[in-house]
Amino acid sequence: MSDCIFCAIAAKDVHGRIVHETEHSLAFLDVNPLAPGHTLVVPKDHYARLDDLPEEISADLWRTVDELVPRVEDGVDADATNVGVNNGPAAGQEVEHVHVHIVPRFEGDGGSPIHAVGG
Ligand code: 5GP
Repeated sequence: MSDCIFCAIAAKDVHGRIVHETEHSLAFLDVNPLAPGHTLVVPKDHYARLDDLPEEISADLWRTVDELVPRVEDGVDADATNVGVNNGPAAGQEVEHVHVHIVPRFEGDGGSPIHAVGG
C-alpha cells in the first residue's frame, strides 16, 4: 500500500533499523521503543489484520517471532518479553499493517502486563 510506513520500510524506501529478514517477514526496531530492544515483526506484504494473513505468511511471521524472542532477550539482557499484537483500531492498532511487538521486560521495570486492558 503506497501510504503505509511499514510497506515503505519493507521496500527499503524508508530507513528502518532492520534486525532480521526472511522470505516473507521483516523485523526492525520500533522508532519509539517501550523498552530498549523493542522490535516489530511484520509481513513484507501489506495485510491490515491477523485474519487477513495467508497461511504461509502467517506461519513465516510466527516462526520469525519464535526465533527472535530469545535473541531480543539476549541482546538487551532482558528477563522476559511481552509479545503481542494490537489487532484492529479498537485494540490500539495505529499502523494498519500487521505487526507483532516484542517488548523486552526487566525485573521491576514497572511496565504493564498485556492483560491490563483499560487499566
Ligand atoms: P500499534 O499501536 O499500531 O500496535 O504500534 C505501532 C508501532 O509502530 C508503535 O510502537 C510505533 O512506535 C511504531 N512506529 C510507528 N511509525 C514507525 C516508523 O516509522 N518506524 C518504526 N521503526 N516504528 C514505527
